[in-house]
Amino acid sequence: MQEPAVKKSLFWCDACNVPLIGRRCGCGTEGRTIPLLEPFDLRPALHADRDLIGRLLNDRFGDIPLPNIILLNKTGGRDRSDLILMNGERFGWLIFDPVTRQFSLEISPEALPYILQYAANGVVNLDEHLDQSKKIRIGGKKFPLKTAESNGTVIVKYRSRFGTGVIRDGHIRVKELALVTPITPKNPDWKEAIQKNQYHLKLLERDALRIIKKHREDRPTANVSFSGGKDSAAVLHLARKAGVEQAFFIDTGIELPETVEYVESCGVDIIRKGGDFFSAVEKAGPPGKDHRWCCKLLKLHPLRIYLSEVGSSVTFQGNRWYESWNRADLDETSQNPANPLQLNVSPIRSWRAFEVFLYLWWQKIPINPLYEMGLERIGCYLCPAMLESEYELLRSTHTDLTDRWDAFLKQWTGKTGYPDEYHQWGLWRWKALPPKMRELCREYEIPVNNDFTLRHNAVKKRKVQSETPAVHIMREEAFPVETIRRDYPILGDAIYLDSAALSLSPEPVLDAAIEFEHRYRANVGRGIHRFTQIASQRYWHAHEKVARFIGGGNGTTVFTKNTTESINMVAHGLSWQPGDRVITTILEHHSNLLPWRALATQGVTLSVIGIRPDFTLDLAALEEEIKKGARLVAVTHASNAIGVITPIAEIAELCKRYNTLLLVDAAQSVPHMPVNVTDLGCDFCCFSGHKMLGPTGTGILWMKEPIIRPMILGGGMIEEVHADSYMPAAGYQQYEAGTPNITGGIGLGVAVEYLEKIGMETIRRYEEALTTRLIKGLSRIEGVSIYAPSDPASRIGVISFTIEGLHPHEIAERLDENFDILVRSGYHCCQPLMEYLGLSEGTVRASLALYTTEMEIDLLIAAVQEIVRSS
Ligand code: PMP
Repeated sequence: MQEPAVKKSLFWCDACNVPLIGRRCGCGTEGRTIPLLEPFDLRPALHADRDLIGRLLNDRFGDIPLPNIILLNKTGGRDRSDLILMNGERFGWLIFDPVTRQFSLEISPEALPYILQYAANGVVNLDEHLDQSKKIRIGGKKFPLKTAESNGTVIVKYRSRFGTGVIRDGHIRVKELALVTPITPKNPDWKEAIQKNQYHLKLLERDALRIIKKHREDRPTANVSFSGGKDSAAVLHLARKAGVEQAFFIDTGIELPETVEYVESCGVDIIRKGGDFFSAVEKAGPPGKDHRWCCKLLKLHPLRIYLSEVGSSVTFQGNRWYESWNRADLDETSQNPANPLQLNVSPIRSWRAFEVFLYLWWQKIPINPLYEMGLERIGCYLCPAMLESEYELLRSTHTDLTDRWDAFLKQWTGKTGYPDEYHQWGLWRWKALPPKMRELCREYEIPVNNDFTLRHNAVKKRKVQSETPAVHIMREEAFPVETIRRDYPILGDAIYLDSAALSLSPEPVLDAAIEFEHRYRANVGRGIHRFTQIASQRYWHAHEKVARFIGGGNGTTVFTKNTTESINMVAHGLSWQPGDRVITTILEHHSNLLPWRALATQGVTLSVIGIRPDFTLDLAALEEEIKKGARLVAVTHASNAIGVITPIAEIAELCKRYNTLLLVDAAQSVPHMPVNVTDLGCDFCCFSGHKMLGPTGTGILWMKEPIIRPMILGGGMIEEVHADSYMPAAGYQQYEAGTPNITGGIGLGVAVEYLEKIGMETIRRYEEALTTRLIKGLSRIEGVSIYAPSDPASRIGVISFTIEGLHPHEIAERLDENFDILVRSGYHCCQPLMEYLGLSEGTVRASLALYTTEMEIDLLIAAVQEIVRSS
């Protein structure tokens, strides 16, 4: 990545003792450079910050006067961790410990000239603790203390030199010692700093206004997205100067009251159309910094509604490079990925918080009072992105709000079996813990899973779950869904619930295709050079892997384009007699119906078996039909429309008894449950690679015996060819004429290995639990009808539902647009079944896979609830 153009240092005018925006001070002096720390943001210490620093210094050293100008450079740490700048020096560090819930301040040696003369306490005279007879080096060393001293930062004196040190459990670690000359600096106030920076403030304003004017007509409407924070306050002011009047604020319903009051006082439109956080959180669990479902529900969703009324707009917003390292490459304009109606413009993206505050003060614009109270960031009072130190502050200032959230977190901790630290230390703020929090957990021996989630306490969990044995969602330690999801880069903002149509492909499958292209691209079964040998061997081996995967090593495994082609190959490849009968079912996909119906031209008749009111296949009716004599039964193993599983082994028994061939359409079963064709006892098994994590354009036809005629003739499928005859090759080759989909086949082999590694039984159990959760959740919503068998053993993760009064396409569209949930709607290529069920408009279908999470299921339920509520 290219280094962003961020400023990594601050200029300081030593003559005026003020920080500078540009290199030169208003007094003409060139500033001295002070390096800053990532993400290089800098802000003035406000009321509460100054009080806190003053109190901590006082506790340790006595009354230490503070300068008017103090700056804080926020850096990464376990929680709040600010480098304090005073008098143009790195004064020390202000740190919040999420475990002890305490702030501490550690001074740096550069602070000594400014505090030494005032320090009444907190000075450790090493002359009294060390053996004076020996000459030893002190700086950077650790020594035991002879008398008890409290832990924390201290000034160290040794002979005539001074330094700083930290005491921890009777030992002191000393930093460098030096001679210190006390300084009494000038003490300008912020007004003076503004005056000295006015030239640069004007430049900043001019540039921001230029950006706003440049873009305000890019769309028919222009507005400001106002968050109640300082950055958007600056943008609102600038936009109004540039003639943009419209501004909106989205009230999530979990805002701090000061913010709402402040927004009202700014004359900004308040949008209150978000969902209910507290009802959604009961299902979805606490949001995380890495899992901000709340934003979608409470911000993006109402924003979409608002914009659909306002129309296409250019929206000015206060995003800045320095807010986090992730934003450091933010462009002047960006298309809102979640909303095509919106073009976002960030006119102050290159400002630091320092410039923002200076500008607001210069322009005398009121700011949200929460800043002076000690918040660094304005947002919802339970925002996962907030620091624990800020939340701790709210516990004393907004007890009524935090009590409710604390009560929920406590209850959630108990329910999920997480350790108490999940709530107490704020570990709920991440789904996957970042390195610094993992280190904290390691220090305190709190178990963390391999995918960096906190481990559930098994004992507690079992107690809670014993009351509800039906829903036994497997936790991360049992099914590593988050680890699995890392293999699917496509899983970003959207919730993909259309795996029955096409599953996603994991990285190893994609890598196999790249490897083929990069290392040994060649045709298969032709020639003897080394590339073709590798390609042929891998392509052939993929057949073997697939055959083993379905327990079909004794049969013939042919690679096709898809299930449809596999079924057609059987329909066309058997030789039919007039009067032959084929039996199929009402559950079938068009691909397992039309090829049989087309045989009518050869005098073949077709019978279609129905289902019972509980959606399961009418086995008795099937037996009656088989008894009448039939050539072949073609039946789905699992319905792609309503998820019902059919009893293939029993059907196979009947077929065997009445000497009937059995073709199983396993397109929906093979990817989601263990399938063993030998145990099932079928003659043909057809399925698709692209539904089982494999590449598109891959399918399989497995045959117990290669009894069909090849449908396509040509190169690659023969043993010998003569002028007037040919001999087909043995095995699968005779059915794969022409150059096959080589990368597809090799990728399919890798997909099968990938599934095998996780285990089909494990996948089946995981998906079964998710399915049960979804069905339970949806069935509680009034107006929602679900079309699925009630027995979990008789269904896969394909759930069809309808909402009274809404067309399935409309529901799918709303789920996509408002909730980023991708589902299928309509007939699902099963129109006869839809007609049979009286569903003239079809259904909405959510289909799961091994990468689907419990959270995604809960969000779908919450979204459906929201759609029902709002229609
Ligand atoms: N049968 C079933 C049960 C299916 O779900 C599908 C795909 N939806 C098909 C057949 C057809 O599969 P393909 O598109 O891969 O040919």
